[in-house]
Amino acid sequence: MNINGKTKLIGLIGNPLEHTLSPFIHNKISQLLNQNVIYLPFLVENDLDLAIKGGFELQVLGFNITIPYKNQIIQSLVDIDSSASEIGAVNTLVRSKDKKGYKGYNTDFLGLKRQLFEDSISLKDKTVVVLGAGGASKAVVYLSCLEGASKIYILNRTFSNAEKLATKLSQVFSNKNDYKTIIPLSFNEYDKIVENHLVVFQATSVGMFPNISNLIIKEKMFYQKIEIGIDLIYNPANTKFMKMVEENGGKAYNTLKMLLYQGVISYELWNDIRVPKEVIDDVFLELKRNLYPKDNIILIGFMGSGKSSVGRELAIKNNMKFIDTDTYIEKMEGMSISDIFSKKGEKYFRNLERSILDKFNELSTNTVFATGGGMPLHSENASLLKELGTVFYLKASSKVIYERIRYSHHRPLLHCKEPYQKIYNLMNNRNSLYEKASDVMIDTNENNINETIKKINDYLKK
Ligand code: NAP
Repeated sequence: MNINGKTKLIGLIGNPLEHTLSPFIHNKISQLLNQNVIYLPFLVENDLDLAIKGGFELQVLGFNITIPYKNQIIQSLVDIDSSASEIGAVNTLVRSKDKKGYKGYNTDFLGLKRQLFEDSISLKDKTVVVLGAGGASKAVVYLSCLEGASKIYILNRTFSNAEKLATKLSQVFSNKNDYKTIIPLSFNEYDKIVENHLVVFQATSVGMFPNISNLIIKEKMFYQKIEIGIDLIYNPANTKFMKMVEENGGKAYNTLKMLLYQGVISYELWNDIRVPKEVIDDVFLELKRNLYPKDNIILIGFMGSGKSSVGRELAIKNNMKFIDTDTYIEKMEGMSISDIFSKKGEKYFRNLERSILDKFNELSTNTVFATGGGMPLHSENASLLKELGTVFYLKASSKVIYERIRYSHHRPLLHCKEPYQKIYNLMNNRNSLYEKASDVMIDTNENNINETIKKINDYLKK
């Protein structure tokens, strides 16, 4: 990035900050939107108010505020958004031009709201259970009230904190003549919840990496009542709480999307712009790849580019498993790819590709995948492939490809009058899509498998 005299600065204030993902999210958005804005972490150990005053003098455009300052920061603001004030927590500061200071917002609850909307989860008339009564729980309980939950239970280790939160938010909503039933309990009183089909938010830090086998409530009976379980933890991707929900018949979600959306909404407030969906999708994909890196290798490219032969050898050399996606589909369907195309149609085949990618993403590690030539051409598949591992585009010229495959009879796309011309045209159309879907391009014109494997392994070592 080109930092110059016009570069604007946004900061993150908290303590500690070592594991934050926010700089990654915001700097990636700036990069994709070509905005001259940088986002930096500022560790504040003592004087929060002084840090904010200094930031204002230094023309800092805005801040994110994280643990332990989301509540304390309110005293240093010149203005506060009404929702943030009702929640009692602020995570975003926006420079106010006329008031000589910053206005505070809470984008955590807005980020959660956007995730729930996207995942088609409605809280209306539902019984909501919130495990925890800290900063995140405040946003969850507030949103549940706004979205029309019929009853909300707050369960917490320290009962008095659950009680305080229940009292405060009951008061907020009764002041608006919108009366809410919010019941505080201790964790061991979960059996007082008589309702079924619960929506449960796990909003404590229990179960977070590296202590991934820890769980707040262990009894199966509790999980059998859960229809939807949402963990405020996103690392690991599939928490123990989520596993318990799923094993007992419920649907489970983590909240990496909430994290991203609270960031996007802050970014929009600071820069007075709308972040387009394509940018959000790109950042989300990169975020997942950073947080949950996978050790699979994916080979993409045109037919005849060497995906299967290189893949097989590479797997042996690296002591990995090998899957050829076309062979996998042929076995699954009990017929050849040509027959699937002619008997069931291309659309049916593409749906199969999509569904096996979902499955591989859940289950596969330490595997080399050689993919069908058309698989990465669909943007959804391309994202799933990048999630699955590091993607290598094996590239050869149309002449080389033609020479390699001209005598093969099992390629439905070559059953035409002028196969070379067809290869040439298809490759022209596909090249940019393969490039976009890959992390790195490897030239395979020389057709030297060992050389290709060496290039792949050299890249992975880096
Ligand atoms: P917080 O204000 O420190 O609150 C922590 C909560 O967890 C309190 O209710 C605390 O109970 C409880 N707790 C902590 N350790 C416990 C233990 N060993 N046993 C039982 N209960 C325990 O933290 P927070 O800001 O609410 O964050 C909670 C979680 O949400 C964190 O994992 C955080 O990363 C996550 N979060 C995610 C997002 C997102 O965008 N996805 C946003 C915000 C937060 P006591 O009251 O008894 O201390």
